[in-house]
Amino acid sequence: MASSGERREQLVELFKHLRDRHECPLKAGRTNLVFGSGNADADLMFVGEAPGANEDRQGKPFVGRAGKLLDELLAEIDLDREAVFVSNVLKCRPPGNRDPLPAEIEECTPHLLRQVELIEPRVICTLGNFATKLLSGRPDGITKVHGRPQDREVAGRAVRLYPLFHPAAALRTEAVRGALRDDFLRLPELLGEPRPSPAEANPLAPVDSRPDRANPSAAQDDQAGEPPPQLGFFE
Ligand code: URA
Repeated sequence: MASSGERREQLVELFKHLRDRHECPLKAGRTNLVFGSGNADADLMFVGEAPGANEDRQGKPFVGRAGKLLDELLAEIDLDREAVFVSNVLKCRPPGNRDPLPAEIEECTPHLLRQVELIEPRVICTLGNFATKLLSGRPDGITKVHGRPQDREVAGRAVRLYPLFHPAAALRTEAVRGALRDDFLRLPELLGEPRPSPAEANPLAPVDSRPDRANPSAAQDDQAGEPPPQLGFFE
């Protein structure tokens, strides 16, 4: 099991590898790789679709209007970006903000899975259809599955997947905004629950013997008293 510092170091290595050596089909058109940002030890991870123009310019996820809504919703449940990790299915902006292509998703998925493997979140909120279908492994769309937790094995980890409407969709439609807010309000309850057992998540999953970071008495790996390691904006 990686210590907090090791986890952060490995994430920084992954970021540098993707930035400098990864031959992504979208590389030529991007300004910055948008790796993801937040707390390397987060119990809660958000996975969006792909960077937009603002994110591409700044190299950070969810910094435009959809990101402001995400921040507001987090604040309503007493969380902020420093408490969570925010990433995307694609790490580079598709031209003109078009939908990700299957080949691009396929290319980028191992990097997202590696992030999950390193961060070991207990709850992953998939934002919108692309992230939800990818991480649930099912074709069901977000309108059907939003707000319904699913126990899944992701990157060998038993996690609770919690599909949510994408904040950009919520900006466009008031009813979606209301549903997203209602679903968000259930997050504290989900975060209070233990990690799903590997057997529930997937009968074939290897047993996860790591101490549960949700349980303070078991949380011996983190450096007590130190601020959470932040992965910010890399240059
Ligand atoms: N939409 C996304 O899916 N991701 C971002 O980072 C920004 C907007």
